[in-house]
Amino acid sequence: SRRKLVVGNWKMNGLRAQLPQVEAIGALAAAHPAAEVGLCLPATLIAAADAVKGAAFVGAQDCHMKDSGAHTGCLSAAMLAEAGATWTIVGHSERRQDQGESDADIAAKALAAKAAGLKVILCVGESLDVRDSGDAEAVVSAQLLASLPEGAAADWLAIAYEPIWAIGTGRIPTMDAVAAMHAALRGALASRIGAEADGMRILYGGSMNGDNAADLMAIADVDGGLVGGASLSADKFAPVIAAAG
Ligand code: 13P
Repeated sequence: SRRKLVVGNWKMNGLRAQLPQVEAIGALAAAHPAAEVGLCLPATLIAAADAVKGAAFVGAQDCHMKDSGAHTGCLSAAMLAEAGATWTIVGHSERRQDQGESDADIAAKALAAKAAGLKVILCVGESLDVRDSGDAEAVVSAQLLASLPEGAAADWLAIAYEPIWAIGTGRIPTMDAVAAMHAALRGALASRIGAEADGMRILYGGSMNGDNAADLMAIADVDGGLVGGASLSADKFAPVIAAAG
């Protein structure tokens, strides 16, 4: 059985004034030890958050694929780990779109993160056009296999399925559509890594909140959530964490 994983992605939100929210979310994590709870923060907050995180983990939202070098403005996985991150997201749709990251880039970032000792949440998800075409499961399964790093294993990698059209919109797929996608993604993983797929967490992300988290996380292949807006305060995040355990 897979331990539920609930991760807040603060995106480009958060100054030191929000550190009390990190602390409060750490306390929520301690109150719900059945779930693994973390916050992927702006890099500028990681070190300060590490000091107040309690039972939550602190993660990053991206890392560079190289160890070091002439890459102005970028951060290596080792830098993020040194600051206190133990996880990082790679391949979020906002970076695939805004920074033009390819599937190959994302696989390379995941390997760089692993080499620095970070655990990784690898994001995949379809556009509204793809959803409307009826091909979403095939397209997202192919995206996952193209982004999947060598040596993918459940002890360091989790997958997040985030339909792009559900991010920040208040719209989510039907429960049947989520169930079908997560089952398809587990099947795609199994085709590549065999029985290791059974232990790998597949999170849902996109307008997850206290009203829908329990229903989403009751789906057999939904092993937690990657939560944007509803993770920015402990009050909003609390019912999501409670739904996970
Ligand atoms: P929202 O929860 O704000 O829709 O964001 C989801 C997301 O992109 C998390 O990575």
